[in-house]
Amino acid sequence: MSADPTRRRTSGARRRAADALSACALALLLLSGCGGADAPLVPVYRVAQLLDPPLEQTPLHCDIGDVFRPTIGCTPTVPLPIQSLPRPAGRVLTVPVQLPAEVKPPLVAFDARIRGPRQEWRRVPTLLLAYPAGGALDLNLPFPDQVNGEPVEAQIVVRPIPPSHQEHVTRTLPIGRGAVLQLALGLDPLGARLGGAPVRFDVIAETDAGPVQLLAKELVPGKGRGWEQHEIDLARFAGQKIRLRLVSDVLVRPGTPANEAFGFPLWGSAQILEPRARDGRRNVILISIDTLRGDQLGGTLDGKPLMPKLDALADQGARFTAAYTTYPSTTAGHMSMLTGLYPAKHGMIFATGYLSSEISTMSEIFARNGYSTAAVTEDAMLTAYVGFVRGFDDYREVKGKTMWETSGEIEQTFGAGLDWVARHRDERFFLFLHTYQVHTPYTPPPAFDVFRHWEKDGQRVPIDASTPPAVRDRHLYAGEVLYTDSVIAQLVQRLTDLGLRDDTIIVVTGDHGDEFGEHGAIGHAKTAYEEVLHVPLVVLSPHLVPAGRSISTPVSLIDLLPTLLDLTHLPEPAGLHGTSLVPLLHGGSFPETRVLFAEAPHWGKFGHRVAIRSAGFKWIASERPENGIELYDLTTDPEEKKRLDDPDLLALGRSLEAAYRSIPNTAQTGAAEESKPGAPKKPEIDDATVDKLKALGYMD
Ligand SMILES: [Zn+2]
Repeated sequence: MSADPTRRRTSGARRRAADALSACALALLLLSGCGGADAPLVPVYRVAQLLDPPLEQTPLHCDIGDVFRPTIGCTPTVPLPIQSLPRPAGRVLTVPVQLPAEVKPPLVAFDARIRGPRQEWRRVPTLLLAYPAGGALDLNLPFPDQVNGEPVEAQIVVRPIPPSHQEHVTRTLPIGRGAVLQLALGLDPLGARLGGAPVRFDVIAETDAGPVQLLAKELVPGKGRGWEQHEIDLARFAGQKIRLRLVSDVLVRPGTPANEAFGFPLWGSAQILEPRARDGRRNVILISIDTLRGDQLGGTLDGKPLMPKLDALADQGARFTAAYTTYPSTTAGHMSMLTGLYPAKHGMIFATGYLSSEISTMSEIFARNGYSTAAVTEDAMLTAYVGFVRGFDDYREVKGKTMWETSGEIEQTFGAGLDWVARHRDERFFLFLHTYQVHTPYTPPPAFDVFRHWEKDGQRVPIDASTPPAVRDRHLYAGEVLYTDSVIAQLVQRLTDLGLRDDTIIVVTGDHGDEFGEHGAIGHAKTAYEEVLHVPLVVLSPHLVPAGRSISTPVSLIDLLPTLLDLTHLPEPAGLHGTSLVPLLHGGSFPETRVLFAEAPHWGKFGHRVAIRSAGFKWIASERPENGIELYDLTTDPEEKKRLDDPDLLALGRSLEAAYRSIPNTAQTGAAEESKPGAPKKPEIDDATVDKLKALGYMD
């Protein structure tokens, strides 16, 4: 350890540490143990869930800048159905609007977009209007010059603006020793766009002895950026019961009629934390390197190692040499990683629709069990609203230029994650990091662009303009991998410097690989061969995960959630497809008949495919019968070059495929479901087949 972990602690934090030590001493007296000398701060009250009266709905996540937080005061953004209307004679398009029940007085913001046939949408300026009588009005929009054709389409998105004075009061809350209140204040950016007024925020503790002002703050729209974070020491209330009152008042600017003043105050991630015995529950950091092939860890190119630093780190824990994704693209693979479910069930194939509320995510489970939670992602396909934001106190999207921008910002992303960890290191935490660094475009920093030769006809030759593009890309990709390897090592070193290594489980994995023409495709989200399904998986945690274990048992991203819950002694939700890997960490084994599934989307003539792995075999079954079913023996043919034609095995593959395709899809996609090209079909499977598969050990 190269740094004193108490070095940066505030006096408040020192006091909490003292309280923690005394809590620990008490635990030792009671022979209950305290999980070491520390007692991390854990969220005991999430304020949004304790309001009296309660919020009408689960607190929404609101974003300021790139950071989403569960927010009190966040009002829903409600898209209305697209309307087809006659082209107007003049420059004004009148759109009839009927506001839905969730949009309420006093004011409503209207965002609108208009297009002609086969045109891109054109946005028109946001309007702010008083709530109309009966919720109905005719909205007169300026008609953009660029819109051609007949008829035209218009879509309105509405957002209610809250009242100018609001109070949110909690139930009575017993306050323990060492308690702190954390919250973030902010103004919705929509308010700044519409000329909103400044807002005063007051936090008051209602005690038996009267009110105590804890915070008074004024925020001005457009000034300052992002959330303003506050931590308030509640030590003086230890042993008492209090109610928290969160008050916001829109401040009327001089000269503005009072009835026209509006603001948009947001209370983000408000929670009370108290020290608790660690109980063996470690922090968790899950690192997903998007598009990192499984063969990079331990691999070499042009005689040089690709990931020497992660390779050395993996020796301090466990590595899985046959880990698989469930889908060779970002949204679906990550959703499996975070839910323990196959895409056939979670249904989140691309960044459309919403994850079913019946499914719990990893972050929701950790948040429910005393973890502070944060994510830093690179935004393209992990968009918050799909469901990735759920359960996170702090969900940061490091923005690319567009939603499809995947250039990778690993230092910025990991740096933001480390900043969050440094601020929350006294807490028990779960952090999810995601980077597109090794995804296209392949642009390694010059210092890592060292794979400059390839083997052509048995000769080592420099890579130049005449080198086939797939070979050039393969080598540039390797440079990105080498760079990423160094940044992962820096992150782990920094966690060590912060004194967090011993109390933290670190998982490094990826959502899918990348292919360079091995089976005729470039990139991913096309085939279901090993180059895109095989991912790295390393699990590190001193004295919890035995060091030096290399595990060749096939495992899947669906196993991560049950594994992490097992390692943190938390119960897993019913119905997960994955299995805890903890027995493997300790030298155990799984039945050879365990079946792992993955999918590949529609691509060219191949149709949607299900990949199946079991007992050393791999099947790739197309939904189109004319494409047949591919079968490989991975033990003798790891590169999937030689198709087998054993009829019994092929029939078994079709049965397994049918079992997978029969999994009910729970995605809440509505009309969007039709447009999802990769959406799994749902063919029937008969009871006799289920019984047969169970008898063979292929189904539980
Ligand atoms: Zn991806």
